[in-house]
Amino acid sequence: MAEKLHPVRGMKDLFNEDYNAHEYIISTAKSVAELYGFEGASVPILEHTGVFARTLGEASDVVSKEMYSFLDKSNDSLTMRPEFTAGIMRAFISGGMHHQLPMKLFSNGPLFRYDRPQAGRLRQFHQLNYEFLGADGVYSDAEMLMLAQHTFEALGIAGDFTLELNSLGCKESRTRYQEMLFDYFTQYSNELSEDSKRRLLKNPMRILDSKDNGDKKIVATAPSIESSYSAEAHKYFNDLQNLLSIMNVHYKLNPKLVRGLDYYCHTAFEFTTDKLGAQSAIGGGGRYDGLSKIMGGPEMPSIGFALGIERIALMKRFTTIATRPIFIIPIGDENLEHAATIAANLRTQNIPTMLEHKGKIARRMQNADKARARYVVFIGSDEVASGNYKVKDMDNGQESFMSLEAIGHLK
Ligand code: AMP
Repeated sequence: MAEKLHPVRGMKDLFNEDYNAHEYIISTAKSVAELYGFEGASVPILEHTGVFARTLGEASDVVSKEMYSFLDKSNDSLTMRPEFTAGIMRAFISGGMHHQLPMKLFSNGPLFRYDRPQAGRLRQFHQLNYEFLGADGVYSDAEMLMLAQHTFEALGIAGDFTLELNSLGCKESRTRYQEMLFDYFTQYSNELSEDSKRRLLKNPMRILDSKDNGDKKIVATAPSIESSYSAEAHKYFNDLQNLLSIMNVHYKLNPKLVRGLDYYCHTAFEFTTDKLGAQSAIGGGGRYDGLSKIMGGPEMPSIGFALGIERIALMKRFTTIATRPIFIIPIGDENLEHAATIAANLRTQNIPTMLEHKGKIARRMQNADKARARYVVFIGSDEVASGNYKVKDMDNGQESFMSLEAIGHLK
């Protein structure tokens, strides 16, 4: 007997309502993003491994444990994207798009991380992703956060999440903070988790993100990031908070929130909810002015964020109203051709139409019910001869005779 097929662990099939919910979330998000001048962009799922390994940092969890990497038939090491930003930046640089700045790019699609699957955490998941390349000045940061809030409002979940906000300061503040943290955590180096011992040497800021309970206790009394801010960093963060208040964007300051990567600066944020148990993050992002340079591109201020589609879909039942088709049922094989021309005619008028050409009539009516057909049109020999077709309204059961033109006007 053939081996039983099953999906890869942590990867889900999307059908019916699940598929529709994803589509609804994507199209709603895209139309809100367009209000802010975003355009769609799509980059490959596969990139050379270096695109992610170098930019995310070898010490990050994503690179050290979670990447789906493999050698292809030319012995090139390729990786299935674990996030969007690095691929988009690679495309910007390799495509020489500097003259198109500023660019606001909206993307969506699957991402891959080899993590332990659980509710809300998959190995193939989907994100809505927003990148604003050439985003200079604090208004850009505020606008991105307005866009995120607007998106949650459009999806009807604005009341269910908290925007947690922090500033990582400018480059100099970050370097200062890294040194302060290194000195602080070194005192506890024996008590830190194994992961955090590694982080201490490579990037002590990542310890602040640790999920380990022992680490969390040590983190609780770590020096605050604010003490390392330069005057410029202070002003940037104050200006942002003023703008957010003016624009009615609600936030909560979280000084422990860091994007651990070296190229992040100033604004860092996360959207969290208490509705999803352990997987409380719906999305996150920040300003990454240093990334382009690291990847060999120009000096370029940028800010971006990503929202997890599966987690949004878990927050609420997104019932979408699917369009209801007209069902065409030919009575007798001799009328099939005529029925097919009627179906083709209706489709050219953008009317969803299904031709149910086989089986017992009762069975075909059941299929019409299942497809939530709005009307059923019967094509028998009398109808073909007269050009008047029997139409059944599936909501009230009433039957009447109508011309093809009248059928085309049915609502
Ligand atoms: P990140 O790129 O890690 O900042 O993640 C951004 C968002 O993507 C998170 O807040 C989640 O909503 C979603 N996400 C990240 N990893 C996963 C995963 N393994 N499964 C499902 N959603 C995820």
